[in-house]
Amino acid sequence: MDTTSKALFDRAQTVIPGGVNSPVRACKSVGRDPLFIERAKGARVYDADGNGYLDYVGSWGPMILGHAPERVNAVLRDAIEKGTSFGAPTELEIDLAELVIDTVASVDVVRMVNSGTEATMSAIRLARGFTGRDVVIKFDGCYHGHADSFLVAAGSGVATYNIAGSPGVPEDTIKHTLSIPYNDIDKVREVMTSMGDKVACIIVEPIAGNMGFIKPKNDFLKVLREETEKHGALLIVDEVMTGFRVALGGAQSLYGITPDLTTMGKIIGGGLPVGAYGGRADIMAHIAPSGPVYQAGTLSGNPLAMAAGIETLKAIREPGFYEALSAKTTRLVNGLKGAADKAGVPCTADTAGSMFGLYFTAGPVANFEDAKTSDLELFSAYYNRMLEEGIYLAPSQFEAAFVSAAHTDEDIDTTIATATKVLAELA
Ligand code: PLP
Repeated sequence: MDTTSKALFDRAQTVIPGGVNSPVRACKSVGRDPLFIERAKGARVYDADGNGYLDYVGSWGPMILGHAPERVNAVLRDAIEKGTSFGAPTELEIDLAELVIDTVASVDVVRMVNSGTEATMSAIRLARGFTGRDVVIKFDGCYHGHADSFLVAAGSGVATYNIAGSPGVPEDTIKHTLSIPYNDIDKVREVMTSMGDKVACIIVEPIAGNMGFIKPKNDFLKVLREETEKHGALLIVDEVMTGFRVALGGAQSLYGITPDLTTMGKIIGGGLPVGAYGGRADIMAHIAPSGPVYQAGTLSGNPLAMAAGIETLKAIREPGFYEALSAKTTRLVNGLKGAADKAGVPCTADTAGSMFGLYFTAGPVANFEDAKTSDLELFSAYYNRMLEEGIYLAPSQFEAAFVSAAHTDEDIDTTIATATKVLAELA
């Protein structure tokens, strides 16, 4: 069925480490080889053997409009004709910055970079430069990209492959990172009381999507805001995944918090490589060339990426966009949970906007330790059977899933019916 993918994977493994350019793609934790994708359109991806799949990965989040949307393709064609990179200022950069600032209430000024990792890495450098302090507090199971400072109890591929930390990251670097349990308000207060004057920033996924899908408990984000303010540290809300996804204004708009800095990525580039960080004007003024904190990029503000980002943001700002997408996602998640219940499989599922997650455990799941109680063998069997039935999910229990505007009601029905059949078989 996937013989071309297999041949391509064999070839890839001889020239690319592990055959992939990002670890989770290798599908090792679900015991199979990856499919090689040849093209994608709307809610579907098509592999090198010509098989079509209903896609809930969405390139790990960016494709909120679905794949290859015509309106984004049209502006890209136009932008290509004008040149693909100038390394000089363009009006497109201002247009995207203005759209972001108009959409995310806490952002006064924004700098474009090329990935989520660059955004978070630059944001903590700025926090350190601004406060003159070194310590970064993060939460177990949260993933903020692969920069050295974040590879402590990290989520995503680090969680999927159960990696404790990474060789190559100096002890001297990670001694400045403190990782504590997500949703543990007492621990936050305890740590800030004992060492708050050394803390440059707390960085958090406002809804965690790299250890599955976990919402913040009541007041968790509010306490982070209070404690950082009290101790002169910055609050960085990492909305690389949640930004423009769980709500137009991001998770910060859902939970009513105003961070000092926000990191963004994925949707902001409409499927091209973009990240961004922004926030309070007085803090952002510390970035070079207006200030001394250095950060730069040959391709930053790339015209193709800006054009795709602008068109995507215009589309998601249209009235009713989020209502329709959220309703579809809620129906899907209720259907999946219903399928598990019917089959007698313990399951915890939740959603925000068009992002969702499902664990094979009775729950509740409030942190990384809870997430790890999920039945990983069952997840692996579920993943493989769903794939055989034409449903393309993230190949890890520790990743969130995404619905796009291109998913139809019929697609949702098909997915629920497939999960009902598969879970009944596996129970
Ligand atoms: N922050 C969060 C919350 C993410 O989910 C990710 C990637 O999944 C990143 C940062 C890193 O982004 P990138 O993979 O674009 O470097």
